[in-house]
Amino acid sequence: MKRIDRPQGSGSESLCHATKNKRLTKTYPILLKFGLRVERLARHYHAAQGDPNLVRSGNISAEEETAILALYKAPPQGMSYIEELRNSLAGEICPMCGGSNPTTLDHYLMKQKYPEYALLTYNLVPACSCNQKRGERLYDAATQARILHPYYDDFMSNPLIKLNFNPGIDVPIFQIVYLMPVADPNFRNLEYHVQNVILRTNFLTFIGKRWTKVKFAPDGVLPGHFRHRSTQDEFHHYLLEQSAARSADEGCNSWASIFFRSISEREVSDWLFENYEVLGH
Ligand SMILES: [Zn+2]
Repeated sequence: MKRIDRPQGSGSESLCHATKNKRLTKTYPILLKFGLRVERLARHYHAAQGDPNLVRSGNISAEEETAILALYKAPPQGMSYIEELRNSLAGEICPMCGGSNPTTLDHYLMKQKYPEYALLTYNLVPACSCNQKRGERLYDAATQARILHPYYDDFMSNPLIKLNFNPGIDVPIFQIVYLMPVADPNFRNLEYHVQNVILRTNFLTFIGKRWTKVKFAPDGVLPGHFRHRSTQDEFHHYLLEQSAARSADEGCNSWASIFFRSISEREVSDWLFENYEVLGH
């Protein structure tokens, strides 16, 4: 997960323009009235920060809904902002889950339930395959806990989780530890996001594989580590530096950043120091 800048415009202008295009026979004249509302819808979405507990929806006909979804599937030239947004973070960190190469667009508010917002940039977040794995999960009406929004949840730029595990076990169980106080108003949202987005991806598999590499083939994961193995303190300091470098490069909640943060814990660091020879290096 990663906080990213909200797109400059909402897309409402291009969208309104498209609704007036007589050559788009699937949408004209069905979306004419909708076209007059989109600017207001964008402002409402932004004021509510996309929060499903606050955003109004449902004021739309079945015919309009079908036309909007058709427009999303095959946007006309004047709506190239959709494709541009989809490719904008290719090769980088996924804002939703912290994995890599987000080349799909996740509708924060799902397009089937919130078709009015399906074409607005504020509701479209570049995401990796976590997009499909998240599916329709958005919020829990009982607790109001919701998925995090990378355009609006500024706290996503703080370190949010790490993993506790026993380094001495062959196949450790990685346990999520939240770095946000339970009393924080966003704690439930973070917990909901981790359960419904991150833990549905291959995050823990990634962590397990990285850990095996650190133990048995550290050269690829810990560059130059053998020069920093004189004392426990030196090695710990080295791991903290690696962790900080990764966070500076990828944001502090990418999968690799979370991994480095977790192995820089003193207990794990000391175990790696003590077992370096035993592991056959
Ligand atoms: Zn993702």
